[in-house]
Amino acid sequence: KKMTSAELRSAFLEFFRQRGHAVEPSSSLVPGNDPTLLFTNAGMVQFKDVFLGRDQRDFDKATTSQRCVRAGGKHNDLENVGYTARHHTFFEMLGNFSFGDYFKKEAIQYGWEFLTQVLDIPPEKLWITVFDEDAEAESIWLNEMKVDSARLSRIGAKDNFWSMGDVGPCGPCSEIFYDHGEHIPGGPPGSPDEDGDRYIEVWNLVFMQYDRAADGTLTPLPKPSVDTGMGLERIAAVSQGVHSNYEIDLFQNLLAAAAKLANTSDLNNSSLRVIADHIRSCAFLITDGVMPSNEGRGYVLRRIIRRAIRHGYRLGIQDAFFYKLVAPLADEMGEAYPELKQAQAQVERVLKKEEERFAETLEQGMKILETCVAKLEGSVIPGDTVFQLYDTYGFPVDLTADFARENNLTVDHAGFETAMSAQRDRARSASSFTADYDQNINHDGQTEFTGYTHLHDQAHIVGIYKK
Ligand code: ATP
Ligand code: MG
Ligand code: MG
Ligand code: MG
Repeated sequence: KKMTSAELRSAFLEFFRQRGHAVEPSSSLVPGNDPTLLFTNAGMVQFKDVFLGRDQRDFDKATTSQRCVRAGGKHNDLENVGYTARHHTFFEMLGNFSFGDYFKKEAIQYGWEFLTQVLDIPPEKLWITVFDEDAEAESIWLNEMKVDSARLSRIGAKDNFWSMGDVGPCGPCSEIFYDHGEHIPGGPPGSPDEDGDRYIEVWNLVFMQYDRAADGTLTPLPKPSVDTGMGLERIAAVSQGVHSNYEIDLFQNLLAAAAKLANTSDLNNSSLRVIADHIRSCAFLITDGVMPSNEGRGYVLRRIIRRAIRHGYRLGIQDAFFYKLVAPLADEMGEAYPELKQAQAQVERVLKKEEERFAETLEQGMKILETCVAKLEGSVIPGDTVFQLYDTYGFPVDLTADFARENNLTVDHAGFETAMSAQRDRARSASSFTADYDQNINHDGQTEFTGYTHLHDQAHIVGIYKK
């Protein structure tokens, strides 16, 4: 059944509301009180303590459309953006949750009913996976939902035992995939060529049963619970009969706005897609109070902004452009997320300022990079160049690596780190004056990077960059 993204979001929430779930708002991208997590990466994050039995709500079933960012930490899809049909840095996760109320059977029933009856998806287009030790879930699918066993696979813990992070709630899961058709390369889940984009995972049903401790021990949760997550953009692609998330209504409008700024009409251009993806994560991160900076969450934001700006440069855009996409984004998403509309002017200001700052060094840095590549023997950009770009021109390493990948090259990460620690040693031996000479405090009260070296911060950045 064909629905717009907005219609799908409402249909989902309404389906679960009618089944006794409280409709709760999306929480912030910055998880409240959770130092173990960089960003909200799933719908269950705001309910983490409810699953653990440490927090109580006045409902035992809930449904949300949660804004999520996966650009750092355990779930990081930054490197996939522009290369797969299904990954974004920012996306919306539709979810239904049971806190000790229903468990596997109802979770599976609801999911199947929503997909095959509300959305009218033919069952033969769907593929099911279960955790290979979970005979109970397998039996519900085969014997109660009457799913064809030829379209069910049992998968190990890597994909079918879900965890929010290194610690916290987790459990076996069962996933639903959509087959986009044999014209697209890729095999079903569990097959050797499962990494293709033919079978796209749309919904993950997690049977929350354990709390994982730092040493890996699993303690059973007070009550078995359910946490599900379905990517709105992916299910919108299915509903709208398109393969790539970038072809759905919401992205087409954003892409058209970006294409106008780039003076092109090819909406399939991969740089345009990266820009349309990145404006969503950047705008929502700033809305949720993250500011570009040189460490932690702020540095992830700065890296995403600079990547987007570099893609603008690649498209030949001359002026500051990225901030101009906030308005079309607010048109698309401001109704579902009023906080975005409210913060619009502030988001534009922050992005424009960051863009102007990076513009001062971007072109020069790109010239150095292009000259280096033209003279390059072999296919590896040397660590010294990567370091020079990073240190003097404000090119995050992943930005240089992104450029390298476009040109079928790689960067010398080990060489970069050697150059970095050499710099750190030089600083240490001259430590009497390197304390914090280039840290400025701006009028927002934020610690700011001024383009050169704050050596203690750099050590931290390398720590983030290393996965
Ligand atoms: P994939 O295997 O495709 O990377 P995942 O297994 O990492 O997805 P989950 O952690 O199970 O994803 O998240 C639940 C759902 O959220 C997925 O089934 C998918 O629909 C959606 N989703 C996950 N990551 C992304 C992303 N980067 N962009 C868009 N949607 C996503
Ligand atoms: Mg993933
Ligand atoms: Mg997966
Ligand atoms: Mg999954």
